[in-house]
Amino acid sequence: MRRYLTHGLFFLLGATLSLGISHFSNARSVLNNKNLFAKQTPEVIAPYYDPEVFLKPEGLTNSSSRSAKLKIPIIMYHYVEQVKDHGDFVRKSLNINPHLFEQQIVNLKEQGYSDYFVKDIPDILAGVVNYASSSAVLTFDDGYEDFYTVVFPLLKKYNMRATVYIAYNFIGKKGFLTENQIRELIESDLVEIGSHTLDHVSLKSARPDVAKEQIFGSKEKLEERFGIKIKTFAYPYGSFDAAAERLVKEASYSAAVSVIPGSLQSQDNLFYLSRIRPGLFTGTTVDSALKEYEH
Ligand SMILES: [Zn+2]
Repeated sequence: MRRYLTHGLFFLLGATLSLGISHFSNARSVLNNKNLFAKQTPEVIAPYYDPEVFLKPEGLTNSSSRSAKLKIPIIMYHYVEQVKDHGDFVRKSLNINPHLFEQQIVNLKEQGYSDYFVKDIPDILAGVVNYASSSAVLTFDDGYEDFYTVVFPLLKKYNMRATVYIAYNFIGKKGFLTENQIRELIESDLVEIGSHTLDHVSLKSARPDVAKEQIFGSKEKLEERFGIKIKTFAYPYGSFDAAAERLVKEASYSAAVSVIPGSLQSQDNLFYLSRIRPGLFTGTTVDSALKEYEH
């Protein structure tokens, strides 16, 4: 029963995911999607969400094997700031207050949680890297500038690592990380840079040439510009299908994160790792929320 309750809760939490970034062109197609659960979700966020992104797509290449599962909670954040425009419901729904975020980090530290990058997960699952049983992976989608101004100082203060997913063509645009900020993040060794496509496009049912350019091109451009290896990928809007998963593998990423709710990871879901969004409802004791998560 609890499993279903938890799932239901995260189903609702998921309603506030990155689907709602209104200035992204794909938001319009999401808004026009007739399959939205408008009545089952809070009024404010209902228009922004396609519930299918919380389910595993059909036909994934590695969904039939039965490899060992490890509990590696990957926590998903977007904005961490004081939202000034109270009418900006999208930003508010994707945001966590900086003070609450700091308390969540302190909570994880006090409870003895170890932190990893997403790129460590393939090695953890292969048994190559030592894995502490209480661990968490922090991820931040979209590459907003508050990652540099708010999150990064806290990562340094508490010596915590995090993975940030960047849409390449947004680098330097208003409200997003600049090239110099990204260089500083890389030099700190506290931040893994991952790809979030070139233009933050929805990959489910995308034209094959478009999907390929977005998945391959973002990796190549990030690697070339910053002189680093890009190992992991995040599907924008959590939207993907078997074709997109295949392309991510072909592009030689070693793992990818989805927005499918859960904390158990395995070789099976290495290219659509589950994530948890603590957001507003978890409060400061994020450790107990992670412990309660059973799938
Ligand atoms: Zn995103």
